[in-house]
Amino acid sequence: MLPRWPRRVMLLNLALFIPALFLGGYILWQTTQLFFWLYIVVWVGILTVGRYFVCRTCPYYGQDCPTYGWGHLTRLMFRRDETRGFNVAAGVIEFATTIVATLLPVIAWVIGFSGKVADFGTTEHILVGILLGLVAAGFVVHQGTGCSKCELEECPFSKAAQEKRRRLVRSV
Ligand code: SF4
Repeated sequence: MLPRWPRRVMLLNLALFIPALFLGGYILWQTTQLFFWLYIVVWVGILTVGRYFVCRTCPYYGQDCPTYGWGHLTRLMFRRDETRGFNVAAGVIEFATTIVATLLPVIAWVIGFSGKVADFGTTEHILVGILLGLVAAGFVVHQGTGCSKCELEECPFSKAAQEKRRRLVRSV
């Protein structure tokens, strides 16, 4: 039986995720419509299709978890998938997609220096700096309060999976 996550862990991670999500969208809305709508489409995909393939198969479906309460969001949209274990492939694809989606405003900012696609003013440059701080803090807190304490061995990013890999290496 996996341990339950303290609600404060979910709320702390949510408190860093939500401002970064909206600040990223605001920066893109102000600078590049192309990247703004790409940002919207990717995040809608993560919060729907991602939940369908990842959270429906997770033991924390419908429960508090470090990843922003997505287990609860999933229960609002989809039934649990009792036919299989944790969807590792979908979890890895989603981890990469979430990193790219989170950094889309930064990618647009870098491309903006070429004078193409996006037009960043002083305010937007400052906001990108704040976003980078929020994203870095969010990643460190999520790893520190979530993955590095997680007993979900099927998820390749969890503490349990890393311990299993270390045991395998030692046994070789
Ligand atoms: S731990 Fe990850 S996969 Fe499991 S419910 Fe939370 S967000 Fe979904």
